[in-house]
Amino acid sequence: MRLIFLGPPGAGKGTQAARLVEKHGIPQLSTGDMLRAAVAAGTPVGQKAKAVMDAGGLVSDEIVIGIVADRIEEEDAQKGFILDGFPRTVAQAEALDTMLAGKGLKLDTVLELEVDQSILVNRIIKRAADAKAAGQPVRKDDDPDVFKQRLDAYNRDTAIVAPYYRQRGQLVAIDGMKSIDQVSAEIDSALDAVAAAG
Ligand code: AMP
Repeated sequence: MRLIFLGPPGAGKGTQAARLVEKHGIPQLSTGDMLRAAVAAGTPVGQKAKAVMDAGGLVSDEIVIGIVADRIEEEDAQKGFILDGFPRTVAQAEALDTMLAGKGLKLDTVLELEVDQSILVNRIIKRAADAKAAGQPVRKDDDPDVFKQRLDAYNRDTAIVAPYYRQRGQLVAIDGMKSIDQVSAEIDSALDAVAAAG
């Protein structure tokens, strides 16, 4: 199964993707996690990405597409994968289509978590507080001001990715305002419907 999670930062993509990993035994490919690892390791990619990420902007399509192209070649991604945080631009969506077509593969579905953006800043403040309370590192870009930049980047560059997939009949909208368990249940039903249709 090859899936994409779309939705603004803080919508719950990472949480829901992690649940599907357990259920379906396929990896979650989070470009944010991959970039944070590259920054922590001080690789050339990480050095290029750091300042942009700290400011809440988008890393260049070229870098991110390269990372994903390499990652989907790895052994654990051969049965399928869940993309979280990618594609974030139409250019990335087109590049993904080309990558998959080159391998004779296609996406099963694209799940869009729909949320009211006015709740997201509070959600992110809570995510930072929870991480701190658990003794985990707090993401630098979970600062409220940087978060607003991430939301602006989403509305400017990423919001048009959902219509890209809707036009192709690949998009399923999920109500992301419900509880985590309710959202998971809605996702499970959507995936059952996709499997039954396919
Ligand atoms: P995330 O963990 O998905 O919220 O991503 C954290 C940050 O990594 C974003 O604010 C961007 O700076 C960068 N990033 C992650 N994925 C992408 C992507 N597909 N395209 C461009 N930048 C990305």
